[in-house]
Amino acid sequence: LSLLSKRMFNLGSESAFEVLEKAKKLEAEGKNIIHFEIGEPDFDTPRNIIEAGKTALDEGYTHYTAAQGYLPLREAVTQYALEYKNIKTNPEEVVIVPGGKPIMFYTMTALINPGDEVIYPSPGFPIYESLIRFYGGIPVPLAIREENDFRLDVEELKSKLTTKTKLLLINSPANPTGGVLSEEDIDEIANVLIGKNIFVLSDEIYDRMIYDGSTKSIASIPEMKEWTIVLDGFSKTYAMTGWRLGYGIMNKTLAQKVTDLMINTNSCTAAFAQVAGIEALTGPQHAVDEMKSEFFNRREIIVDGLNGIKGFKCIKSPGAFYAFPNIKDTGMRSSELSDYLMNHAGVAVLSGSSFGAFGEGYLRFSYATSTENIKIALKRIDEAMKKL
Ligand code: PLP
Repeated sequence: LSLLSKRMFNLGSESAFEVLEKAKKLEAEGKNIIHFEIGEPDFDTPRNIIEAGKTALDEGYTHYTAAQGYLPLREAVTQYALEYKNIKTNPEEVVIVPGGKPIMFYTMTALINPGDEVIYPSPGFPIYESLIRFYGGIPVPLAIREENDFRLDVEELKSKLTTKTKLLLINSPANPTGGVLSEEDIDEIANVLIGKNIFVLSDEIYDRMIYDGSTKSIASIPEMKEWTIVLDGFSKTYAMTGWRLGYGIMNKTLAQKVTDLMINTNSCTAAFAQVAGIEALTGPQHAVDEMKSEFFNRREIIVDGLNGIKGFKCIKSPGAFYAFPNIKDTGMRSSELSDYLMNHAGVAVLSGSSFGAFGEGYLRFSYATSTENIKIALKRIDEAMKKL
C-alpha cells in the first residue's frame, strides 16, 4: 500500500456504489431488495436518442473526434445553454467530456493548488469533498439546513470567505436534499462574489427537474460568466447514465486547459454518443417532460408516505429526484438506520452522513423507482420501524 502516491490516500468515494454492492449480495442470497440508493433515472433513454446513436454507428462515427468535442455538438450546447439557461456562450467555451463528473475532476485539476480553500455544500455530492482533498485543497463545508429549505445561507457563505478562497461549489437542484436555490439566492450569491476573483463550479445536472419554483444559472449573470464553470450533462435529463456524456461551459482559457486534460486522458468522448447528444438537445423534449411528471407523482407518494412513518419527518423538496427525511426522532445514527432498513425491510437507502457531517440525522431516498415499489417499500419500512 505504501507504494501508492500520497494523494491516493485523500481520495474518497461515493457510497451509492458501495450500498448497491451490498444490496446485490443480499439479492444473490435470495432476498428481495427495493432500490432507493442509486441516483439514476429508471427510465430508458428516449427512443429518438437511441436511434440517433445507432445511426451514428452505421454512418461511421466510430473514430476519434476533436478532443474538445465534436463541433456540431458544441454548437448544440451553446443553443441549449441560451434557451434553457440564458447563458450567452460559444463553442470555444464548451468542452464535451464522458459524463458530468469529469468536469469536476478536470476543473479542479486546472484550478486547485495545495492550500487553496474550496467552499462546498454539506450535505452535498460526496465527490466534491473527495476531489478537494485529492488536490490538497482545504475543504470548507457550508451547512445546508432543512430550516432553510435546504438552500445555502448567503450570510453564512460570506462568513466562510477568506483571501485563500479559490472556488465555490453550488448545486441547484441539489443532491442529496432536492433543495433548489431561488433566482434571488443566485443573485445574492453573485453579489457576494463579484470582484473577488473566486471561481464558481455550478453543478446544474438536475436543472430540468424542478417541481415548484425556479432557479437560474449563475453564469447567466454577465459579471459572473468568466468566473463560472457550468457542469451539465445527459445522464439525468435524458436518462443516459450509461452513455457517459456531459459537458462544461467555462471561459476560453480554462476550456483549453480542460481540453489538454482530455488529450492526456480520454483523447475524446465516444463519437457516436456525441452524435446522439445532438439529438437529445435539439430533438423533441416531451420525454423529459414525461419523466418529470412521473417524478412529481412519485414525490407526492414517497414524501406523504414517509411522513406517516414513526420517527420520519420529510419536507417536500422542490427538485431532483431525492427525498431527504429527517430521522432524528428515531435516536439512531443515519448509517445504523440505513443498515437496519436494508437488513430488516429489504430497502436500500443512503445515510445522510455519507454526504458530509451536516447530513447526519437524515436518509436519502432516490425515488427513481416505480410507484408500485415505492408503496411496497413504505409499507415494509413502516412495519420495520414499529418493531424497534
Ligand atoms: N453532479 C451531481 C450532483 C450528481 O448527483 C451526479 C450523479 O450522480 C453527477 C454530477 C454526475 O453525473 P454523471 O453520471 O454524468 O457523471
